[in-house]
Amino acid sequence: MQTFSIVVFDGDGIGPEIMAPTLAILTQISEAATSYRLAFDHHPMGASHYAKTGEALPEASVEAARRSDAILLSAMGLPDIRYPDGTEITPQIDIRIALDLYAGVRPVRIVPGHPTPLAAPGPVDFVLIRESTEGLFHTKGTGEVTEDYAKETLRITRATSEKLFRFAFDLAAQRKASGRGSGKVTCVDKANVFRAFAYFRELFDAEAAKHPELAADHAYVDAMALWMVTRPGAFDVMVTENMFGDILSDLGAGLMGGLGLAPSADIGDDNAVFQPCHGTAPDIAGQGIANPLAMILSAAMMLDWLGVRAENAEIAADGARLREAVEAVLTEGAILTGDLGGKATTEEAAAAVAAQL
Ligand code: ATP
Repeated sequence: MQTFSIVVFDGDGIGPEIMAPTLAILTQISEAATSYRLAFDHHPMGASHYAKTGEALPEASVEAARRSDAILLSAMGLPDIRYPDGTEITPQIDIRIALDLYAGVRPVRIVPGHPTPLAAPGPVDFVLIRESTEGLFHTKGTGEVTEDYAKETLRITRATSEKLFRFAFDLAAQRKASGRGSGKVTCVDKANVFRAFAYFRELFDAEAAKHPELAADHAYVDAMALWMVTRPGAFDVMVTENMFGDILSDLGAGLMGGLGLAPSADIGDDNAVFQPCHGTAPDIAGQGIANPLAMILSAAMMLDWLGVRAENAEIAADGARLREAVEAVLTEGAILTGDLGGKATTEEAAAAVAAQL
């Protein structure tokens, strides 16, 4: 029996409200498993913790996260609690740097029932990989601002890009092997205008040459924004710089019908954080009406990742089963939260997923 230790950060706003039913579902799955158990270990982090202690991301929490098998993180940050310089508290971004989680994985999948704004999307199942530690976020918080100009730096390194592209091709190979993708990786850049992106593309091509069994192509980011809307079914894995990925992943969430359905993972060589794409939704916090599905889908991604990493087929199958249970709830459409046009509470929506399992 394998035991996986999962560090849990409950977060702020709706964070704890969506985490609690997600952990209940994971416990239900884990208790029925024959080859593994999940052990949850809660640690503090976030804006409420900062308000109480003056620390948003305690070192002990980072160390616990580093030692864990996986990290589940809910939404973080509150508009009224800020650092003395007025900036928002974003430990969910800081932990990506602390643990070198360079690959931001944002799946975009549209199944019947998804409230997509697209008229006839057809099957859509692609994964956007956003580099998460450098790019245009390199000078985050330290950009130069004078009376006359403001300057931020975009930095692309060989070391991170090589790891990022290896990750993208490995993911495409896994998806192809499991019948979920065609085995194609698209590099999204602006290599026609910026030398840094020509460099990015060159490193991508070098990795692509090592994978003759997979297809590789390129797209400029502006064209990709158009194609994600006009032919989203044409893509399998796409990989891009931090800021481009930040923007395109919200476009992907929009295609799926909103932030309440968009899961994500931030993955490095040794650690991985799984969290919904949305924020803490202070406007609806405390009412028990937040949509838990993005958090539950993020938990499903965690099971998938643990399955591959620990070569445990049961936990990988449980990840797929959990994702399918969420999709079945969406397709039936009877028990949905307010953001999806329904009247269900957080607990009722999570219970519907548990019932599907
Ligand atoms: P951040 O900057 O931290 O990402 P944000 O300001 O972009 O946050 P969110 O907190 O994600 O905003 O909320 C944006 C809108 O989406 C709000 O109206 C919020 O109520 C809604 N929303 C976000 N997540 C959910 C959810 N899980 N269920 C229902 N509504 C949600």
